[in-house]
Amino acid sequence: MSAYDFVIVGAGIIGAAVANELSRKRPSAKILLLEKANKPASQQTGRNSGVIHAGVYYPPGSYKATFCRQGLEETLAFCQQYQLPFEQCGKLLVATDKAELQAMQTLYERCEQNELHPSMLTAEQIRKAEPNIHAVGGFLVRQTGITDYQKVTDCLLSIAMESGNLDVKFQHTVNQLSELGDKIEVTAATPAGNKTFQAGFLINCAGIYSDALIQRQGLDCDFRMLPFRGEYYRLVEKYDKVSSHLIYPIPDPAMPFLGVHLTKMIGGYTTVGPNAILATGKEVYEGVFSAQSQLLDIFGKTDVWKLLWKYRKSAVKELRSSLSKDYYARLVSRYCPGITAADFLPYRAGIRAQAVDRQGNLIHDFKFVSSKLTLHVGNAPSPAATSAMPIAREVLSRLF
Ligand SMILES: Cc1cc2nc3c(=O)[nH]c(=O)nc-3n(C[C@H](O)[C@H](O)[C@H](O)COP(=O)(O)OP(=O)(O)OC[C@H]3O[C@@H](n4cnc5c(N)ncnc54)[C@H](O)[C@@H]3O)c2cc1C
Repeated sequence: MSAYDFVIVGAGIIGAAVANELSRKRPSAKILLLEKANKPASQQTGRNSGVIHAGVYYPPGSYKATFCRQGLEETLAFCQQYQLPFEQCGKLLVATDKAELQAMQTLYERCEQNELHPSMLTAEQIRKAEPNIHAVGGFLVRQTGITDYQKVTDCLLSIAMESGNLDVKFQHTVNQLSELGDKIEVTAATPAGNKTFQAGFLINCAGIYSDALIQRQGLDCDFRMLPFRGEYYRLVEKYDKVSSHLIYPIPDPAMPFLGVHLTKMIGGYTTVGPNAILATGKEVYEGVFSAQSQLLDIFGKTDVWKLLWKYRKSAVKELRSSLSKDYYARLVSRYCPGITAADFLPYRAGIRAQAVDRQGNLIHDFKFVSSKLTLHVGNAPSPAATSAMPIAREVLSRLF
């Protein structure tokens, strides 16, 4: 049985950032990273919007607000240092009718509290800045940017591997954890059968499966991860340069999802999305029934029904956007007139890992669960790609 000082589970951006931080801070430690897929960033990290968030929405003092602000600076600096693609294009939040102006004002004040110094724009100023965008008002957050998080993750891992103390194993699905005195025993399913490793400490960065590992360890887990699929479309070529900023609607403040937005992508094209549909399995990227469906697991507990009832209006709207391309296009055409379903090309979906408590409440902030020899990153939804480096530092600060 191989022995390590640290085992990290999951090679998404959080696992990669933790591996990188750990290999620098503990150069003599032996570190193992176990990943169930055959490459890094195959789940949320490689399927997101690619936005380097500035921290518009989050309550001051929350992990999200603090780590997002730090993460913005650090992600930009990291991209610059390692010559990864990025652009600090700014984000325009737009109100499409008078009813949205009050919510827009509240969000603007939140931005000011988060020291982002947003600029309020009139309808006329918006038309000048973005001729294809129609709005009754809006505000600009200049700091927001875009990058390719797959590349950021690959880079974090390759730097960590250069240190010589990190061992990365793909196609290793961790399915058992047990604390035995001052060691933790970790078993992973591999194409060659089960393998067991021993470590001094385990860090769980398994994204949507983080709850499963907490439970496998026998710890009390008062939440579970539910899969919210975000469906996107790519706009046809004539819309590649439809806006020079990212264009976001004013979201429902009760929801952690930001509304279908226009996103400039690294690569020079534009996407619209994502909506937010409760998926029938943690890896069901399209449709309802597939080999990956986990209908009983997802819908067999009362928390999910409480959640669906609480957010029934949003749930119906989101479902409509999934069932009807025309309806989806209408959401976009509210602020970008002229776009129709005929302008949509297929694009890969992503699945958000979102923690929900037993009463069916969405847990908004990042969440950590620990035991003597384990630290679980329990809830790391958006903007966790932006915040990955500060999250990694937080993990280490809880270890040492
Ligand atoms: C549609 C969408 C849009 C988003 N947009 C943005 C955005 O624009 N900006 C932003 O900052 N954030 C965004 N996010 C959020 C961001 O992508 C995630 O918060 C972030 O990627 C989480 O990283 P992670 O490493 O925790 O999870 P993941 O990327 O999901 O990685 C977890 C890894 O663990 C592995 N794993 C799971 N179980 C096991 C096991 N038992 N054994 C071994 N390995 C295991 C998985 O295969 C996976 O590789 C978005 C997310 C989605 C889904």
